[in-house]
Amino acid sequence: MHFDLIVIGSGIAGLTTALSAAPRRVAVITRGTLADDGASRWAQGGIAAAVGSGDSAAAHARDTRIAGNELNDAAAVDALTRGAAEAVAWLDACGVGFDRTAQGYLLGREAAHSQARIVHASGDATGAEVMRALGAAARAASHLQCFEQHLAESLLQIDGRVVGVAAAGAQGRVELFAPYVVVATGGIGALYRHTTNPATADATGLALALEAGAELADLEFVQFHPTALRTRDGRSGQLPLLTEALRGAGAVLVNGAGRRFMPAIAREAELAPRDVVARAVWAELERGETVWLDATRAVGAAFPQRFPTVFASCLAEGIDPRTQRIPVVPAQHYHMGGVRVDAEGRSTVAGLYAVGEVACSGVHGANRLASNSLLEGLVFGRALGRRLAQQPVSRSTRSNLPAVGGPVDCSVGAALDTVVRDLLWRHAGLVRDAQGLQQAQQTLQALQRDAATRGEQRRVAVAQCVVAAALQRRDSVGAHYRRDAAQMRTG
Ligand SMILES: Cc1cc2nc3c(=O)[nH]c(=O)nc-3n(C[C@H](O)[C@H](O)[C@H](O)COP(=O)(O)OP(=O)(O)OC[C@H]3O[C@@H](n4cnc5c(N)ncnc54)[C@H](O)[C@@H]3O)c2cc1C
Repeated sequence: MHFDLIVIGSGIAGLTTALSAAPRRVAVITRGTLADDGASRWAQGGIAAAVGSGDSAAAHARDTRIAGNELNDAAAVDALTRGAAEAVAWLDACGVGFDRTAQGYLLGREAAHSQARIVHASGDATGAEVMRALGAAARAASHLQCFEQHLAESLLQIDGRVVGVAAAGAQGRVELFAPYVVVATGGIGALYRHTTNPATADATGLALALEAGAELADLEFVQFHPTALRTRDGRSGQLPLLTEALRGAGAVLVNGAGRRFMPAIAREAELAPRDVVARAVWAELERGETVWLDATRAVGAAFPQRFPTVFASCLAEGIDPRTQRIPVVPAQHYHMGGVRVDAEGRSTVAGLYAVGEVACSGVHGANRLASNSLLEGLVFGRALGRRLAQQPVSRSTRSNLPAVGGPVDCSVGAALDTVVRDLLWRHAGLVRDAQGLQQAQQTLQALQRDAATRGEQRRVAVAQCVVAAALQRRDSVGAHYRRDAAQMRTG
């Protein structure tokens, strides 16, 4: 089947790109249900945009660069922050029901933002509302053909250029061809023991790009959220997120003895930067303590109205957060690194583009500012879709189609999955050092030798790249913390 454009992934980045590429014929390949199978639908806090009075794109850009330890690509930051208002207006036009006051958007404030500039929907259910609207728009769009429940298993290339995708679905395998292929497959949370990401964030998009010869960048910059809900069964994989807005509302972190530990660590206490709070929680846990988020005083009876998503997650674990403390653990949350792309979303391989969390435009530097990632998918997805819609369409002809190999076994065994998760959690997690990273490298080499499927080889290959990048960067900066470094770099 031939298209003008193929997009892999139906999160905010993929669907925004696909919708913005009208009237070109676009195939969207997604491994689950359209708009519902990625991290986007889980987003709670909202979308950062300088739309309030007294705010400006320049102030938003400054906050973004400070959070990123000035390792950001300044042009990408400008494009992101300048494009924010238009992108939010576009979502509005798509039917997203943002929370409002009589004056305009109801704006929230999050850590490290100098202004209240977080646009949100249904309180803490922004992602679900945004993806509801984008999913409906995609289903109604006549230029889109959606391949749901299809796993992209290989990129098809001719003379190095990516010209298509092979994907496996319940009815068999499809081979789709287009002059442009966009990877919008999200993050790498499934490589870590604890994560806020859904299981689909297993880095297969990153692995496909790597196999196609694309450069990856900034892989060592992995963001951890300080407060995921520690479940009764102590399971690994996706844990419910306890949004930062809870601490913004005055909730405090306490240890088993009921003592607050953040005031002794940072002036801003619980509202210190995400990585500082996450490492403090980690340190308490390493000491054998338990850590709790206490919102009983700060939020109390208002919990169901103010934080309905978190409230439901707590109740499911038998906790009533109006009257009880919530057990927490840090969790992998976001990947700043990814497929290296230029200002136009192009990877280093012809025909291959990347957008959203899987991409690395350098916009986040060493650490992402809260609520900038939905925005990234929106702004860069809008720009990429529109740009590709302007490109000439040169169809592959039968004579120059690439040889398509047989089916690829993308499965990953439970044993290897657990070993990789534990390895990255322990050695390429919140706190790293050369010894642990080298140990991880050796174990991963052995795992690569013994990998039973292509899926396992890919999983290990991405883990190896993350560990190698973390080993290579010897200083601590942003989300990358080396306990064997002399001191933390601040800019
Ligand atoms: C709990 C939680 C809360 C968050 N809160 C916020 C917030 O308030 N504000 C904010 O800005 N950010 C937030 N984030 C981060 C943000 O949600 C993500 O960074 C963003 O949604 C990523 O969008 P994406 O489109 O790049 O990827 P995703 O939304 O993850 O979409 C990836 C898509 O690719 C598909 N896919 C993956 N591999 C394949 C394959 N091989 N074949 C076919 N399809 C594939 C997936 O099924 C999915 O459709 C949060 C994240 C989480 C997990």
